[in-house]
Parts: sequence; structure tokens; C-alpha cells
Amino acid sequence: MMVPIRCFSCGKPIGHLYEKYQNLIKEGKSEAVALKALGLERACCKRMILTHKDLIDELMKFSI
Ligand SMILES: [Zn+2]
Repeated sequence: MMVPIRCFSCGKPIGHLYEKYQNLIKEGKSEAVALKALGLERACCKRMILTHKDLIDELMKFSI
């Protein structure tokens, strides 16, 4: 779906970081380097970004 605004575990705001993370990955940086550049130190926050799959565009094709 859409990236969560805050980390589910610690509550740190992370929603604004996902687009920057994707840009860093497109530039060829590794996941570890990208997460460090974004200032994500805790494992809970890293998993929020690493395991996110943007599906909102896929779902918008179908009506409810
Ligand atoms: Zn966290």
C-alpha cells in the first residue's frame, strides 16, 4: 500500500524518507548505505523501509 507515516514500533516519522530511499537505490547505492544516509539506525525503522511494497497504483485499477 502506501508507506506508513511512522514506524510501527518506535513511532519515528519515516514516511517522508521512502522517496529519498528509492532515489538512493536508483543511483546504485546499497540498501545499507541508503538507510544510513537517511539516518535510520534502529532495526524497526529499517524494516519499515526495506519491507515496504508500493501497491497503491496496482489497486487503483480496481473499483471497490
Ligand atoms: Zn522504529
